[in-house]
Amino acid sequence: MRGAVLHGKGDVRVEARDRPTLVEPTDAIIRVSAACVCGSDLWPYRGADSYDEPVGMGHEYVGVVEEVGDAVTGIAPGHCVVGSFFASDNTCEICRTGYQASCVHRQPVAGAQAEYLRVPLADGTLVATPGPPGADLLPSLLTASDVLGTGWFGAVAAQVGPGKTVAVVGDGAVGLLGVLAAQQLGAERIIAMSRHESRQEVAREFGATEIVVERGEDGVAKVKELTDGLGAHSVIEAVGTQESMMQAIRSARPGGHVGYVGVSHEVSLPGQELFFSHVHLHGGPAPVRQFLPELIDLIWRRQIDPGKVFDLVLPLEDAAEGYRAMDERRAIKALLWP
Ligand SMILES: [Zn+2]
Repeated sequence: MRGAVLHGKGDVRVEARDRPTLVEPTDAIIRVSAACVCGSDLWPYRGADSYDEPVGMGHEYVGVVEEVGDAVTGIAPGHCVVGSFFASDNTCEICRTGYQASCVHRQPVAGAQAEYLRVPLADGTLVATPGPPGADLLPSLLTASDVLGTGWFGAVAAQVGPGKTVAVVGDGAVGLLGVLAAQQLGAERIIAMSRHESRQEVAREFGATEIVVERGEDGVAKVKELTDGLGAHSVIEAVGTQESMMQAIRSARPGGHVGYVGVSHEVSLPGQELFFSHVHLHGGPAPVRQFLPELIDLIWRRQIDPGKVFDLVLPLEDAAEGYRAMDERRAIKALLWP
């Protein structure tokens, strides 16, 4: 089969790979219908994470089940399925509280930018769609696998709800879908922080009521200005840098909540400032599995169209261009058709 492999900094190649096979009786093998490049894939692409050997890339997927192990009972060949980037049993004590991304049996799912993918713990991880989806629904279903689920968790972690003013730090795909999540969860005002016109446009389509182009301390001042000097009730942090994290914390009012879902890289928090801020912090890798049934339902009933974040659509063979375009911020998010 063909699959995308990272060989080193800036070096993604689509090449022949071994087709995955069942390893555990709880596994499923799926034929990938659509995959994509994640903002978090850019960290290793840029050389921020260390790796010793070429790695199969991709952890977002929608696909059709090809075969299942003997212990799999809830998923069968032919089902169209969506799953998270962490496989989970969905039965342990942590899963049952809604934190499937920290399942005691969790396993990363990797190598989804390929024709076939092995998914461990298939019964707990995969959620089947109500039937075979039309091709037009595949991009939106694909977002549920990570980027939508992550934006959604950012909003839930930030306690977004009716009457709340929400600020969103980060105009990548997660931030934009955080805007969509905030709108769906009933936010009264949604302040999207973005300097890019094309992204501002998507943010408005997803429900942003105000745009702030300033960033850092100027961005914080602008959010304060828009909120009677208080700050937002809820802030979604969708970048993961020191600057974005502090921008998020300082944009929240005392008693407010920050949902941080940008993968944290070299962020360190000043204890005394946090102490006096009275801001709640919650975040981490999104427990996407918790939200999958609800998100698939919203997409299936065409209540939301999160697939709009894909502004670049390529055949899998051109994965390298997808990485380049996202790295250079020419594209919000690249979809790859195997
Ligand atoms: Zn579990």
